[in-house]
Amino acid sequence: MYSSLTTLMSSISTSVLSDLLQALPHLRPQLYFKASLTALSHAMEDQVLAATLEQPLVIASFQRERFYRQEAHRYERLAQRSDQIYVLSAPETDFTHSSEHYEKIAFQADDGLSQEWHLVVIAQNYATCLVCRESLGSLAKNRRMPEFSPNLDMDTARRFEGIWTAERGVSLKVADLLLERIIVYRPELSGKIKQARRRFGIGRRTKSLSEAKQLSEYACDIDTDPFVQRLVTYLQASQYKLHKAYRSIAAQARKERLVNSISTAIRRSLNPQEILTVAAQELGQNLNACRCLIYRAQATDTEAIIEHEFLRQGVFSVMGQPWSLDKNTLFQEVVQKGEGVRVVDTQTDDRIKNCKALTEITQRLRIRSLLMEPVLYQGRLLGIVELHYSPENQHEWQAGEFDLVEAIATSVGVALIQAEAYANLEDLNQQLEALDRTRSNLIAITGHELRTPLSTIQVCLESLASEPDMPLELQQVMLTTALTDSERMQKLVQDFLTLSNLESGRVEWHPESLTLQECVDLALSRIRARAVTEKLPKITTQIAKNLPLVKADGDWLVEVLAKLIDNACKFTTPQGKITIKAQINSNQMVEVTIADTGRGIEPNRLEVVFDRFYQEEGALRRTTGGTGLGLAICRQIVNGWGGEIWAESDGKNQGSKFHFTVPVTRIMNYELGMG
Ligand code: ADP
Repeated sequence: MYSSLTTLMSSISTSVLSDLLQALPHLRPQLYFKASLTALSHAMEDQVLAATLEQPLVIASFQRERFYRQEAHRYERLAQRSDQIYVLSAPETDFTHSSEHYEKIAFQADDGLSQEWHLVVIAQNYATCLVCRESLGSLAKNRRMPEFSPNLDMDTARRFEGIWTAERGVSLKVADLLLERIIVYRPELSGKIKQARRRFGIGRRTKSLSEAKQLSEYACDIDTDPFVQRLVTYLQASQYKLHKAYRSIAAQARKERLVNSISTAIRRSLNPQEILTVAAQELGQNLNACRCLIYRAQATDTEAIIEHEFLRQGVFSVMGQPWSLDKNTLFQEVVQKGEGVRVVDTQTDDRIKNCKALTEITQRLRIRSLLMEPVLYQGRLLGIVELHYSPENQHEWQAGEFDLVEAIATSVGVALIQAEAYANLEDLNQQLEALDRTRSNLIAITGHELRTPLSTIQVCLESLASEPDMPLELQQVMLTTALTDSERMQKLVQDFLTLSNLESGRVEWHPESLTLQECVDLALSRIRARAVTEKLPKITTQIAKNLPLVKADGDWLVEVLAKLIDNACKFTTPQGKITIKAQINSNQMVEVTIADTGRGIEPNRLEVVFDRFYQEEGALRRTTGGTGLGLAICRQIVNGWGGEIWAESDGKNQGSKFHFTVPVTRIMNYELGMG
């Protein structure tokens, strides 16, 4: 018994709908949405509930126990109307074979019934049936994108194909097929089923096709109400509209989700690489592309490098490869229109056929459909998003997909600009940090430079105050030291203020046309005032005659000359020589050179001597006096009028030359003359 049951069961994995269509081949299945089937089923059940005398046969088959559970109470009411009620379902929890109010038949999960939805009502004067199978396409589609189909949408989108009819012949056949199944599961019901068959004339075998046709044609004893037909049409149409609305809501939700995930990536990171990788990934995945590329490109670029890529399995990569832009007519079209372009079939599209580069690329990369979307920011092209589809998944663009790609491209554009701005900011920040470091250094150095003379002054004055009987000569030494150091301090503060005014641009320039000779004379007269107390080296001047007038602020020019001559004197023994030269150079500027025969500068120090507080011997071991700010001030002044200043020396004890340039007012012929 058991083995014959299993053999039988294995043969019932077939579909009742298929069996019916095989038996009655003239039937044409139709497509029904789930809601339409629910409405029809309820109408059929209501008809049974409305009748009082009838004891009809009702067979209902539910795909799952949970679908049945929603209807269980209706079947209890139906059971009060008839003793021939059969409900079939695939058990999930407690649905079992039972005969309490009506007959329950728990079929196996792999029974063909689990894909189907049936309801048959056979009464003496009418019969209707609904025999449907869930369209697997609709199921698969919904399963593929579960995250984008809200539950409601998924349920309403379920579609069934099958027959709904009030033809008695068809209904009897369906009842026959279902009763056969019931006996397989519950053989003990065979007596009751035999009764039903007899009462309603079920199972009279049709022998030929024509007989089957005749049976269905003549067995229809009620005229299908045209109103019902209209109702069904109406239901179907509104169901279709609803389904479309859900689809567009789902598409919208999908778009928002995608844009959100990319915005989140943008918020989380300021690293454009990371953002673009996420964007390529999400777009490719969601738009079902086999390849999604994102690369940076400007309108005038001839080539780009593929930087970001999403690939489906088995699709080959173009990452890091150069991507021709100037020979790519689609890219040119995108640039020209400022919007995306798409190609549905690369084999028939003229734009591809007429462009050698594109034909080559689409063939080599097996691209059947493609989309190219510009990444723009305020009309400026920053890059391109490309979606490729292989011949196996040639793409039919859905409404809303372009908006989606465009929205993503816009986000990507904003992200790129944001990242660029951030990079600039970081640069600026580094500059500020460097500036801050310099400032701190400066404060430390200045503090040290000021403290040193100050403590000398303090020590001297304190000794004078605390030791009134100090010998007079010593008192004199103390006073002179204090005085010298206070003078040095004053000079330091003065130089420091001058330098910071120059550096911060708080200096007023009064450019005038000057003869250089006059300025050199003024500077020399300052130096010579010192010659009374110190012995200075011999100073000669070689200023070219007819040298053009220079254009500079007179006071500052004299300052530069005085500082350089002063240095030359400081670092040259009185036996040495100082020469001041001026001539026009190849840049049509006057080049002034102050050369000495003094201690010279090591080649690696020629540039650092212009740093603030640079002194070769270090501030503490100073022998020559001076603040270490002179050359830094000179450079600021010379740069201020657009000139340059540099040092030259062959090394220790080889003498030094300081050169600087000054712009001229007008060029004149000149000859070299000696001053
Ligand atoms: P200061 O002369 O007050 O020390 P400067 O900025 O004028 O400061 O010069 C910085 C340093 O450059 C000097 O201490 C010295 O070491 C070097 N220097 C400047 N001029 C000469 C020169 N003519 N010959 C040799 N060394 C020089």
